Amino acid sequence: MRIFDPHIHMTSRTTDDYMAMAAAGVRAVVEPAFWVGQPRTNPGSFADYFDSLVGWEPHRASQFGIRHHATIALNPKEANDARCTPVLDLVPRYLAKESVVAVGEIGYDAMTTEEDTAFAAQLAMAVSFALPALVHTPHRDKKRGTERSLAVVVESGIDPGRVVIDHLNELTIDIVLEAGCWAGFSIYPQTKMSPDRMVEILKRYGTERILVNSAADWGRSDPLLTVRTGEAMLAAGFTPDDVDKVLWRNPVDFYQQSGRLNLAHVTEPAASFAGSSIARGGQ
Ligand SMILES: [Zn+2]
Repeated sequence: MRIFDPHIHMTSRTTDDYMAMAAAGVRAVVEPAFWVGQPRTNPGSFADYFDSLVGWEPHRASQFGIRHHATIALNPKEANDARCTPVLDLVPRYLAKESVVAVGEIGYDAMTTEEDTAFAAQLAMAVSFALPALVHTPHRDKKRGTERSLAVVVESGIDPGRVVIDHLNELTIDIVLEAGCWAGFSIYPQTKMSPDRMVEILKRYGTERILVNSAADWGRSDPLLTVRTGEAMLAAGFTPDDVDKVLWRNPVDFYQQSGRLNLAHVTEPAASFAGSSIARGGQ
């Protein structure tokens, strides 16, 4: 099983996680810029973080044969802090970088007018840089947040096929697929979405325009839940090719729209891991 995790915050994970991910078949990740827990107080703090997403993390991932790309944006939560919004002037500089494959995470947290402004401004940047966009949906009032996000996407004029609406559930998938966007699902240990619920969604909606991620960060999360979802798919009767489509080819197709995805030498499991008992799940 080869895995591309299209949304994971490796900055907040340990090197042991990279080792476990590599051993389980994770060959590529995309790390979206987001809130890092402690509120930032100035644009320079973002610049250091963005530099890490295009510098240090790709280097760290490469030690384990994992290809690392990033998405860059002012996140919805910090779009509400006037000390942070000047970072919007810095974002274009990073959108020009070779390893940046989308604008994100953008979207809504509390659905304020400040968030409206940052969301629209950054969708316009996605259009002008010809990059895809990764849209976070709020944890509270998800249905309304998703509807409003889709309205802003339509208004921006971006091709919906270049937009993923993320952190979806059974109640929000229909409107996203109908709008022509990609549907992203974050699999978590207890909240949001489980591997078994994800399998039910795949049975009902098929495998087109669906992205599955672990969204692992500093909170209670698990970078191997992509792998667990693949295993649950196989147990439910999906073929290895179905699993490969959802967990590898779909994220490749989505981010390839950036024209920057570089997966040279990582499309097959690394020889050092392929034959190990860990790579076969210890079986
Ligand atoms: Zn995230």
